Amino acid sequence: MVVTVSASVFWALMAATVLAAVMVLVLFAERLRARTRDVERRRAEERIRFLSSHDALTGLPNRLSFREHLHKAWERAEAENGRLAVLLLDLDDLSKLNDSMGHEAADRFLVVLAERLAVSARGAELLARAGGDEFAILLAGGQATVAAAAAMALTLVETAALPCEIDGHDVLLGASVGVAVYPGDGPDADALLKNAEIAMYRAVRESPNGFRFFTARMDIELAERRRLEHDLRRALSKDELALHYQPQVDIRSGRIVGFEALARWQRDDGPVPPGRFIPVAEEAGMIGQIGEWVLREACRQARAWDKAGLPPVPVAVNLSPAQFQRNDLAQLVHDILREFELPAGRLELELTEGAVMEDPAAADRLLTALRTMGVRLSIDDFGTGYSSLARLKLFPVNALKIDRSFVTDITTDPNDAAIARAIIHLGHALGLSVVSEGVETEAQLAYLRTEGCDTVQGWLYSPAVPPEQAAELLRKGRF
Ligand code: C2E
Ligand code: CA
Ligand code: CA
Repeated sequence: MVVTVSASVFWALMAATVLAAVMVLVLFAERLRARTRDVERRRAEERIRFLSSHDALTGLPNRLSFREHLHKAWERAEAENGRLAVLLLDLDDLSKLNDSMGHEAADRFLVVLAERLAVSARGAELLARAGGDEFAILLAGGQATVAAAAAMALTLVETAALPCEIDGHDVLLGASVGVAVYPGDGPDADALLKNAEIAMYRAVRESPNGFRFFTARMDIELAERRRLEHDLRRALSKDELALHYQPQVDIRSGRIVGFEALARWQRDDGPVPPGRFIPVAEEAGMIGQIGEWVLREACRQARAWDKAGLPPVPVAVNLSPAQFQRNDLAQLVHDILREFELPAGRLELELTEGAVMEDPAAADRLLTALRTMGVRLSIDDFGTGYSSLARLKLFPVNALKIDRSFVTDITTDPNDAAIARAIIHLGHALGLSVVSEGVETEAQLAYLRTEGCDTVQGWLYSPAVPPEQAAELLRKGRF
């Protein structure tokens, strides 16, 4: 049989075939594209998953994934009677590096450090970047004995202390490590992590460039501190704060030439010394409020003594460095003096070397503003901090106060005697008057007198006393 196909049917068939082929191609391309999209989506998902569990800069696992890992390791250790150790490393002064060399340089430093830590922590279960300047290391099994954890902590501290060349500079930052171990340091994985953190903060404060193991004592101290902070927040409104006044005595005449106002806190269960609550107030951001209360109360008291007809001597108020950094301090002092109509010369502010030297230019502006108002200024605890003499010479202060630590052994320790003498001569060379604090004995007084010290303050004459007793002393006028 012969099939004859007309030309038109032939072309129609051809067209249909080509169309079908094109459609198959299009479909194929579409499938291919969909598959590529799928791969891309999966890759993006993986990346997101990676980023949510890793630190983008160093590529190390982040805090979240460290915690997850720790939880699993905890369960395993509990089931198998195993051991764990959490080490937290805090870098000192990363923010200073940020400020001085910029974020990019600090980032590069962190990348190098992370690589070095990875090498040092090779035997570890996990190394993670737990925060901006924090790294976390998890040890397990034989690596998690106290001795092995201590050895690792030391290695980490040493690794962090190695110089690192960034932009042609040798960057050197220290680090402090806190360690908590299982079993012992906490009822669950989160407690273990928290306790490693407590130990780390302790190391930062007490052994920078070293490490500390968590102890139950730290936990108790932290709880006490929290209570102190909580109670201190209420102390002002509960009227539990008071000022006591310690006379300052002219070494030649024995006359009272001023008072230092010292804060006292009578908590429900007894007095808390300022050496304990002032640092807590500073760290908890309450010093501004407390310091303002102290300023106001001291000025109110000075004015009240005036009105009672007592001799008009200056009252010295301690300023903490944080108060000093407030840029409205001069305005605040001005307003308070005005509120109580107290002449500026009756107020003296005691600053520490650290506060003044932190930002000398800002300090100079503030001190000049206060001096111009007529407020008196002294440098407290002189000799214990760091002062640039070039700066000191320019600051408009009136007096240097020799720290009590040099006075205590002034008659037995030749070094202390030499330091006290040097401060007296330095002060006089700069045209400043010199006050010695913590004078308890006649022998100390005699030495200070021989060396030409101007004013003394100490238990030999009187401790800080409540305002009524201070008024009595002032009425007598001399010792
Ligand atoms: P500081 O300013 O060096 O005060 C001197 C401290 O030595 C006072 O302790 C005082 O009571 C004590 N002291 C005075 N004479 C003698 C002495 O002869 N022998 C001995 N052993 N001690 C003596 P206090 O009152 O416990 O104050 C401790 C620190 O607390 C002060 O050191 C000051 O830094 C801070 N502080 C006290 N009140 C305030 C305040 O209102 N504001 C701020 N920012 N700090 C304050
Ligand atoms: Ca003082
Ligand atoms: Ca002092």
